[in-house]
Amino acid sequence: MGQDSTSGANATAATSARRASPFARWGGGKRDTAEQDEHSRLLRNYEEMGLGWFWATDAEGRITYISEQISTMLGGAPDALIGRDLLSLFQSVNSEVEKRRTLPFHLIRHARFENAQAHAEVDGEERCFALSGQPQTDAKGGFAGYLGHGIDVTEERLSAAQNSRAAAYDTLTGLPNRRKVTDLLDDTIKAFRGKKRPCAVLLINLDRFKQINDTMGHPVGDALLKQVAERLAKIIGDAEKVGRLGGDEFQVVLQDSHDRGALGDLATQIIESLSHPYSINGTRCIIGASIGIAVNPYDGITSEELLRNADLALHAAKGSGRGRFRFFATELLKAAEDRRVLEHDLRDALTKGEMAVHYQPVVNAATNEVSGFEALLRWNHPKRGRISPAIFIPIAEDANLIPALGEWTLRQACMDAAQWPGELRVAVNVSPIQFASEKLPKTVMSALANSGLPAERLELEITESVFLGDTSETDARFAALKRLGVRLALDDFGTGYSSLGYLKTAPFDKIKIDQSFVRGTTEEGARNQAIIAAIVALAGAMGMETTAEGIESFDQLETMKALKVSHIQGFLYSRAVSNEDLAGYVEDGRWVIKPNGPAKQRHSRHATFRRVGVIHDNHYYSAVLRNFSASGALIDGLVDVPQGTQFVVDLGDGQLVVATVRRALNSQQGVEFEQHLVDDGDGGLCTRHRVSPAILAAAGLTSDPSNPNSTLVAKTEEGGLTLPAFHTITEWKAAIEGAKAAA
Ligand code: C2E
Ligand code: MG
Ligand code: MG
Repeated sequence: MGQDSTSGANATAATSARRASPFARWGGGKRDTAEQDEHSRLLRNYEEMGLGWFWATDAEGRITYISEQISTMLGGAPDALIGRDLLSLFQSVNSEVEKRRTLPFHLIRHARFENAQAHAEVDGEERCFALSGQPQTDAKGGFAGYLGHGIDVTEERLSAAQNSRAAAYDTLTGLPNRRKVTDLLDDTIKAFRGKKRPCAVLLINLDRFKQINDTMGHPVGDALLKQVAERLAKIIGDAEKVGRLGGDEFQVVLQDSHDRGALGDLATQIIESLSHPYSINGTRCIIGASIGIAVNPYDGITSEELLRNADLALHAAKGSGRGRFRFFATELLKAAEDRRVLEHDLRDALTKGEMAVHYQPVVNAATNEVSGFEALLRWNHPKRGRISPAIFIPIAEDANLIPALGEWTLRQACMDAAQWPGELRVAVNVSPIQFASEKLPKTVMSALANSGLPAERLELEITESVFLGDTSETDARFAALKRLGVRLALDDFGTGYSSLGYLKTAPFDKIKIDQSFVRGTTEEGARNQAIIAAIVALAGAMGMETTAEGIESFDQLETMKALKVSHIQGFLYSRAVSNEDLAGYVEDGRWVIKPNGPAKQRHSRHATFRRVGVIHDNHYYSAVLRNFSASGALIDGLVDVPQGTQFVVDLGDGQLVVATVRRALNSQQGVEFEQHLVDDGDGGLCTRHRVSPAILAAAGLTSDPSNPNSTLVAKTEEGGLTLPAFHTITEWKAAIEGAKAAA
């Protein structure tokens, strides 16, 4: 037993001595010479292979041994470094956090350490080392210095840094990637929670980027994205707050930002900057941008909620014409929900027989005689009544319902038209999705064959967006359709890119000038007229007809006639009629319509009234706001409020504004807003600041989600009319100002 324990102790001592002493001259006395020599050879071999190096210091930290490999790297033969402070070989570290992991920190503690960091400049480059050390004791058990080992970890560090960069940054633009910028949003929201610090997120999507990418090639698209990234980083002033989510989508996170006036200005600045021409390898290209904005906590508490809502706002911005920004508003959520319901109902609409095709006459401008009809789809929803195709066609396009719906319409229109007397034509709208399908020519052929309608009596209306796809496919489709003998019309000219170039290449028989462009001729005068004159001249030269759409008044009709537009379609002649009604009008194959309508075009005005809540003393009233501008409005529905009275107008969604009565006329008051409203990006107005749900809740008020027009319902027994807190205007101002102060 005794012997066993002795040999065991010896073995342990030998192992630890072997581990601790690189060379025989340190503590090698316990071994025989042959073993020492072998040991030294191995260690020297290790040094020479450059796998690592050794070092030793005395109790004062002065070098007593250092491998040649590292000493030459750090600027001297080993002998020249003997006696120098080990730390003097390395750069000093300033950061407090870093210090805990570095050499000086460990050396001073006289304890064992592993992989302490040390840096040194070698040939102008920073190199990074990991040092490990074992403290040595003298005969009396006191600290006698270190024996240690070191390795060069520069390459590992670099590739680790590159890997973490690749995981967090977009390789093309160098901006933070989706993960990184989403983490930033997450972290910001978490850090600001409870501190009344808001933050905003902007989702930016480029307009027409796909077109550039498809027509000019991916290298150009990539170069363009890089320039977009540079412009964005420059405007925001901190590239770390701008992320590329992928494709042509970018996200900006703005801390302590909730002034919608300032956010709208910034968004406008971004849109303007990104819309300036780009020069790529000497080629000029132009794109645009749309932006959706959501602000925490008003528009979402979590980052997912905030991003979803910013995305809804972005879609709304794109939907209302691109090149715009849009703030999130709760009505967008409701609209998205409505859309989901409609999409669901649309799936069965055909089989339930809820769809019908109506026909709007197209008349010859010179003779008022109907030359044909445009087939327009009508949906009679069992609960909601008639739903406009302007609403359900885009839903059908997103939900992949267009192929079935389009084919049904085409077959129905051909069958109806085949029964019409005379040579009347029928025009059918073809969605870009249908156009993109190889099956289209076959479907058209089959619809003609089944109905017996001659091909030249069928016209297909196509929008410019079909030119955004693959050019050779587009050309092939046009050729196949033309071979069938059908007519082709370019629909909605003047709403998209309106490139006259398309007219030269595609075999159109007709150009339909969009209603919005027609309106522009009487509202904006000469410019649109000159463009229409040019289109008509070009169309005439190429043997195409022209139709002006949406003619509602005699002044528009006269303008179109003066511009030599050949055909007219619009309410001034007729709305779309059912096939039964149509049969009654065209009994003998002819229908001459006498135009009937207003002499002048009524200028389209936005509805300028809005239901609001008004808080006065501790009462909450309903009222209607009319003619409102950024600085004031007329309020309907309050009786006998004297001049100078101040109250709070509740515009919904936490938008409260203090108003002062400047003019009082019985039930109408002219009020001035204390803080001017700002542009909401949708042609409307909103408040700069909002009172957060938390502040309202603290005052005993909750919002009423069922009523988008008002924010507040008091939690009281008296039916929600009495407000328990904020009795005075001063208190209200404090609450609104409080929201402002949080910004
Ligand atoms: P569109 O092809 O430009 O059709 C003309 C639209 O203008 C029709 O709206 C028509 O009712 C309306 N309109 C005609 N004259 C006037 C006027 O004097 N004043 C005003 N304010 N409007 C006028 P509708 O029927 O609501 O259709 C809207 C759009 O939906 C159509 O625009 C077309 O793009 C699409 N659409 C309709 N039916 C179909 C279809 O069967 N297939 C496809 N793919 N799209 C369809
Ligand atoms: Mg059309
Ligand atoms: Mg049109």
